[in-house]
Amino acid sequence: MRIVKDKYVKIGRHEFQAGNRSIWSNEPEEMWNNWMWQQSNRIKTLAALEPVVHVSDMERQAFEASSDMFHVGITPYYAGLMDKDDPNCPIRLQSVPTMGELKILPDDLEDPLNEEGDMPTPAITHRYPDRVLFYVTHNCPVYCRHCTRKRKVSDPSTSTMNKQMEDAFLYIESHPEIRDIVISGGDPLSLSDKKLDQILTRLRSIPHIEIFRLGTRNLVTLPQRVTDDFVEMLKKHAPVFVNTHFNHPKECTWEAYEACRKLADAGCVIGNQTVLLKGVNDDPMVMKELMHKLLAMRVRPYYIYQCDLSQGISHFRTPVSTGINIIEHLRGHTSGLANPTFVVDAPGGGGKIPLLPEYVVKHEGRTWTLRNYKGQEYTYVEPEL
Ligand SMILES: *Cc1c(COP(=O)(O)O)cnc(C)c1O
Ligand code: SF4
Repeated sequence: MRIVKDKYVKIGRHEFQAGNRSIWSNEPEEMWNNWMWQQSNRIKTLAALEPVVHVSDMERQAFEASSDMFHVGITPYYAGLMDKDDPNCPIRLQSVPTMGELKILPDDLEDPLNEEGDMPTPAITHRYPDRVLFYVTHNCPVYCRHCTRKRKVSDPSTSTMNKQMEDAFLYIESHPEIRDIVISGGDPLSLSDKKLDQILTRLRSIPHIEIFRLGTRNLVTLPQRVTDDFVEMLKKHAPVFVNTHFNHPKECTWEAYEACRKLADAGCVIGNQTVLLKGVNDDPMVMKELMHKLLAMRVRPYYIYQCDLSQGISHFRTPVSTGINIIEHLRGHTSGLANPTFVVDAPGGGGKIPLLPEYVVKHEGRTWTLRNYKGQEYTYVEPEL
């Protein structure tokens, strides 16, 4: 069943409600719904956070100590989703600094995925045969505490210049093997519609480009960014894939639902990449709930990432077995559509490596002994060819 009311949608047992307005409840509706207002009223300082939640001593300490390492930025919308009293709230853990960020372990790496090593030109990482990452900005509406690109993101001195942008286009144009562009950053939706339109127009003019994906967390942290004008602009460039980054069911609000609805109605295909984070979503029941909510928003779960080895995010890392166990609890137990691929992005630039629970019990000659999701064993014998 689907119930649609003013700022409320219910699909089956999933309710999508408008986010809490917190200290901004008197702000006029047109301000709150305006993404520029949300951008310019972001929480960047401890003083600005204090009235919104009961800041714990540890958070206060971490905020001050980490301030020159990785900026804080939290949109009023995302801040409104925080639990005022619980520092372990999943929204808070993802956006307010904690002491864990100050800890750098011997195994931590500055550029764990060796993205710099595979850079033929400053705005491109070319690792796989037919597709590239294209960095178009280093800004994001909310700076995720678990960001793997902390070395670059939020630092204005590394932002993509026009010259770098042009070099990237020239690189893509001169490499006919590239058919798929992952437009990333930072968050490409930090750019204006006009600038994005220019980028997409240029990419669409390249004969060998088939698809591109916008890698964006705006649907989660600033859903107001997805305006009618924006989706109209995207329509011109179809097919457009959008890969977003929901990590917790609490992020699935009415605003997020609406942003996804507009994109999907405009013909975009939306996928989700979740990062496995200790204390946020390292629980099979939380993940299953998230995957179900995403499907109700017309978002197809794509990847769950093992938290990588970037510096200052060790407090978020889980054992690899946690991710495998989550897949064990999804596959067979719920819709195949709700099953993302669990991947480890190999340190040193090896790329994404998928991991699954072991379903092969034994393999001898033409005989495969397999187990299903209930642990029951079955034999498949290959016919003699
Ligand atoms: C993740 C990634 C891609 C895209 O990989 P898919 O598996 O196609 O989603 C492309 N290039 C780099 C460097 C990546 O890290
Ligand atoms: S939106 Fe993406 S790039 Fe930006 S801070 Fe979050 S994880 Fe990093």
